[in-house]
Amino acid sequence: MSTALDERVTDEVEALEAILMDDVVIKRVNDVPNIIETVVHPSTGDDVDQQFVCITLEVKLTPDYPDCSPEVTLRNPRGLDDQLLTTINSQIKQKLLDCLGQPVVFELIELIRENLTESNLPSGQCVICLYGFVDGDVFIKTQCYHHFHSHCLANHLIAGKKYYQEELEKLPNWQQMQAPPYQQTCPVCRCPVSCDVDVLKNAPPPVDSVTAPPFCLTAELKALQLKMAALLAQQVAKGGVVGVGDTGPPPLTITSPSDQDNEATNGSSSVAQEGAKAEAIGNGRPNGSGSNDNSSPGSPHSRPVYRGPYRGFNRRGKPGRRGRGGPR
Ligand SMILES: [Zn+2]
Ligand SMILES: [Zn+2]
Repeated sequence: MSTALDERVTDEVEALEAILMDDVVIKRVNDVPNIIETVVHPSTGDDVDQQFVCITLEVKLTPDYPDCSPEVTLRNPRGLDDQLLTTINSQIKQKLLDCLGQPVVFELIELIRENLTESNLPSGQCVICLYGFVDGDVFIKTQCYHHFHSHCLANHLIAGKKYYQEELEKLPNWQQMQAPPYQQTCPVCRCPVSCDVDVLKNAPPPVDSVTAPPFCLTAELKALQLKMAALLAQQVAKGGVVGVGDTGPPPLTITSPSDQDNEATNGSSSVAQEGAKAEAIGNGRPNGSGSNDNSSPGSPHSRPVYRGPYRGFNRRGKPGRRGRGGPR
């Protein structure tokens, strides 16, 4: 490894910084460029609003670069499906071979940009309604490059704000004062977003949701419902464990001293507890959304163990709920 920096590398890095400016990050080790990182967008002139996809390119320079290939990694793909990623990756491999002995970063950026420009439409589904994006759909790209039908995102944000408000009102006054203000977040990555809900909600519903055949409860679906309901009942009875014949401890932990006390004084009551819970389930208590996010949707049974975003918080920790330590 020579300490004198290869001129080809110095020139390339200088050019990258001059052309891409703030859009490229050069990480150096002892003043020697080591990692080059840039987010690649499709070519849309200066119209950033029309860029629906992007990907982060990371090039780690090897000591003998450019006579040896650098290590190239693609990260944070947005709006790109696996097939396109595979295509881009294999094109990159070929390009690295073709360009051995000469700087390759600009070539890589160009190669990726061409692919993105050709596929500058979100692929995959709207994660809210699970329908795809078709001609005529009105959709939005968030700041984090996730895509949703405008109609769906509006409903999601409205529901999110309502939920926040409901949870806030349950808190004592002094906690309400200290609670962080409501912040819209992306349903995929939870990055903060700022969307005009009033504009979004004027968008028509997804085209596919309108043209889809009416829902029909087939025998197959009914069987699946029964299977899922049984799994859910087992999950609830075991305190949140999904699976058949689980023997391990429940994944929810005890969070309050009183709960521990109950546990200690009722050390052998787990069977009784399960019986009590099973009974509660059998009573067909009102259903909320799923417990622990693992439940089957639409199951007619079960009171959720917990339905908020604060994972790790255990409602069973509150004494007196759900018959913990109930009569034997
Ligand atoms: Zn949607
Ligand atoms: Zn996002």
